Formats: sequence, C-alpha cells, structure tokens
Amino acid sequence: MSSLLPAAFVGHGNPMNAIEHNKYTDAWSQFGASMEKPKAILVVSAHWYVNITAITAMSVPRTIHDFYGFPQALFDVQYPAPGDPAVAERIVDVVKPTYVGLDEDSWGIDHGTWSVLVHMFPKADVPVLQLSINADLPFDYHFNLGAQLHSLREEGVLILGSGNVVHNLRMVDWNKPGEGTDWAHRFDDDMRSIMTSDASRLATATSHPDFRLASPTPDHFLPLAYIAGLSAAAGVPARTLVDGYEMGSLSMTAYEVPSA
Ligand code: ZN
Repeated sequence: MSSLLPAAFVGHGNPMNAIEHNKYTDAWSQFGASMEKPKAILVVSAHWYVNITAITAMSVPRTIHDFYGFPQALFDVQYPAPGDPAVAERIVDVVKPTYVGLDEDSWGIDHGTWSVLVHMFPKADVPVLQLSINADLPFDYHFNLGAQLHSLREEGVLILGSGNVVHNLRMVDWNKPGEGTDWAHRFDDDMRSIMTSDASRLATATSHPDFRLASPTPDHFLPLAYIAGLSAAAGVPARTLVDGYEMGSLSMTAYEVPSA
C-alpha cells in the first residue's frame, strides 16, 4: 500500500524551461525527488483544452511538440514515459457519474506536461496520463472534478495541474525579465492567500477585478481549479513550492498540497 501522495500545481511558463535550468526547474526537480515513486502521474495540462473531458488511455503516449518558433533542441525532446490503460479506466470509474472518455489515439504528452516532468522525473519511468480540460464547462465543474480525484492520491497516483496563475501573452513585455506588473502581483497574491488558507474560495477568482487581465482565456488558470478541489477534499491547504514572474504578465507560482 502506498501512503497518500502530494498533489501540485506547477506554473510551467515558457517551453524553454524544458531544456534550461533555473530556480523553477530546480524546485520541480526537488519536488519530484521528495516523494516515494508514484504508481502513475495524472496531469491536467493547460494545453489539452478541448470540448470534452477525456483521459489518455494508450499504453505508449507520444510526445507532442505543440508550439512553433522555438529552437530545434526543444523539438528534439522526447519524454518516453509509458501510459497506463488500467489507471485510465480506474479514473473513469472514480469520477462517475461525471463522464470521462477514454482517448486511445488523439492526444499524448504535451509540453505543459513534459516540460515539467523532464525535471521532476527525468528517468521517464513512471506511467503518465493526461486529463483534458473541458472548455465548455464552468469553474465549479473543474473544481468538483478535482475533488473527485482525491482517492487516487491514496492509490499512489501523483496528480499535477500545469498552467500559470497569471498568463497573458498579449501583455508580455520582453523588457521585464523576472518581473511582474502590478496587476499580476495583485492577482497572484490574492490567489495565494486563498490557496494557502481555504482553496474552496478559489471560485471567487472569476470576479476578481484583475481576472480578465490575469486570465484572458481560462486554459492556464483552470488546472489550478483541480488542485484547489483536491486541497479542499483533503482539508489541507496548499503551500508555495516556488514563485516568481516573467515578462510582466506570467506568474510562475507553484503549489504543493502536501500529504498531510
Ligand atoms: Zn502553457
């Protein structure tokens, strides 16, 4: 029997983090090394944002390079972790009556997942599954689905959300490396006070005065809803793993929901 595994939200930021080493990637590495080896890793990535809730169910998920305009070295990255069809079927059962479709052949492991896992679990020897974000459904659906995944933590599954609390690519300012604008700080700080006290209040984010700037499209914010749901289900507040800003309009904050 495994003991309860942590869960975490990771701000993945620029895909180049996959092949760079900095304070964020160091924190991801340390987090991976801090726990017993998971049975499987389930990732809710900002980059699988579609019109259905689905789970990857293939035994050999492909590495997806879902970006362009980056150096060849990034396209050369492979993350050859296996899948785990049995865990996929278990997830479908655990969240019933919520419907989750089994994806046999459409998705795989996208850069929201592998840019983090190459640091967290560099051997790629733990099966990886991705859960899509259903773009048609409201915040509460994602929070509640996260909470429904709680029992998987007791079955040795590491659950990760990969996005960014603040993510506005139109507002990127290349003159602000390592900095955040005032509204980015305000939003990130307020989300932190929620995540580290009572994550069940995260739904209030959508009426925050800076929400539209911080999250002009919800894809990078919603992975946090899953981890907030897990935090609330466990009754354990999150703690900050690492934080910082990039280019004015990205927050790199990562949270861990610890084992107890
Ligand atoms: Zn991203």
